[in-house]
Amino acid sequence: MRKSYDFIIVGAGVFGAWTTLCLRQSGFAVALLDAYGAANGRASSGGETRVARTGYGPDELYTRWAARSLVLWKEFADRRKRELFHKTGFLWLSDDSDPYTGRIFDVLTHNGIPCRELSAPEIRQTYAQFSFSDIQRGILETESGVLMAREAVQALVKEAIESGVEYRQVSALPPLADRQLKEIETTAGERLSAAVFIFTSGPWLPKLFPDLLANRLRPTRQEVFFLGVPPGDDSFRSPRMPVWLHHTHPKRPYALPDIANRGFKIAFDRHGPEFDPDDGSRVVAPGTIDELRAYLRESIPALKNAPIVETRVCQYENTSNGDFLIDRYPGFENLWLVGGGSGHGFKHGPMVGEYVRDLVLGKISAVARFSLATKEIGPMRAVF
Ligand SMILES: Cc1cc2nc3c(=O)[nH]c(=O)nc-3n(C[C@H](O)[C@H](O)[C@H](O)COP(=O)(O)OP(=O)(O)OC[C@H]3O[C@@H](n4cnc5c(N)ncnc54)[C@H](O)[C@@H]3O)c2cc1C
Repeated sequence: MRKSYDFIIVGAGVFGAWTTLCLRQSGFAVALLDAYGAANGRASSGGETRVARTGYGPDELYTRWAARSLVLWKEFADRRKRELFHKTGFLWLSDDSDPYTGRIFDVLTHNGIPCRELSAPEIRQTYAQFSFSDIQRGILETESGVLMAREAVQALVKEAIESGVEYRQVSALPPLADRQLKEIETTAGERLSAAVFIFTSGPWLPKLFPDLLANRLRPTRQEVFFLGVPPGDDSFRSPRMPVWLHHTHPKRPYALPDIANRGFKIAFDRHGPEFDPDDGSRVVAPGTIDELRAYLRESIPALKNAPIVETRVCQYENTSNGDFLIDRYPGFENLWLVGGGSGHGFKHGPMVGEYVRDLVLGKISAVARFSLATKEIGPMRAVF
């Protein structure tokens, strides 16, 4: 086993896995390290499923990245002969008060992304299993859907290994150097050297680089529920149910159809309390169950008493404004930070991988909004 590489990538979540594969496909010697294993139970990429939608309000950049990424996800799934994407559609639900959903239709149409507007009566008729009393308008992204998150990341790492990447389940210590990093040390005492180091360590980035990132990248606790649907009932499966987001509801509930028989998935897309990805409790809070039951009574009466068949506690790794962080560590020439998925990063994995490859190879100039300089201390939620 070699000890020196062109690139060492620290973190085999979705960002690290795609970055590794992109660099390897360009012919580089790459090592990929992960402390707990690819898409492990603590990682942000370790969930069963993640939504791949293209609507980002007025935001053209994330819309284009999401659309291009979806093409690359599908190519990857075809290459691996795996059902890693389920085309369920994605439905934005709005009470018509918000400018964000007001812009989605125009931006999607402008970018050639198929979508349809639905009126309140159409929504009531098509999705009679729900009762969204405040909803006036929907936008259905017909080509969007659900990525099998953990399975996809593990398949990416498998492909990376097959193509010559050295994958190691080891924990990297915070690097110590000035300007030019030559090697990193693992908790096992091993030293690994490379020309370039890329830390794709997700919610662990502030623990690895506290002086720079504590408070600039804030992991928050996020709770997810899977509910058992009534026996023989297909109204909570695709094609009768798309992924939907009750966007103008104060708690921003969103739901995924029952995929792979795991149940109806539902969560609130709002930032929870701060969270430690190593030892934070992964048990859902009783208060959230009460909130969930209240929402079910209000909007999904058929599931108001549905059993909770599974729960997950994961973390968002939020930047101050929700934009990704992809930049050099200040003062270092060969140390890069890639993270800040901020609750919406998974779908963009393929584009993050290509962007990071081209950036570190000096082939493109940096997108300013991904820079460290644009990341303030303290939370905000500008990008959804
Ligand atoms: C509940 C929930 C729902 C979400 N829903 C969506 C969605 O629907 N659509 C969407 O696009 N996005 C969604 N996201 C966001 C998305 O999942 C994340 O943005 C994305 O997975 C972040 O990936 P990552 O590679 O940056 O981090 P991670 O997946 O956390 O990977 C980081 C890896 O680094 C490793 N690591 C850390 N420190 C070290 C070290 N010292 N040495 C070695 N390895 C180390 C960890 O073990 C981990 O595997 C959601 C997130 C959550 C929590």
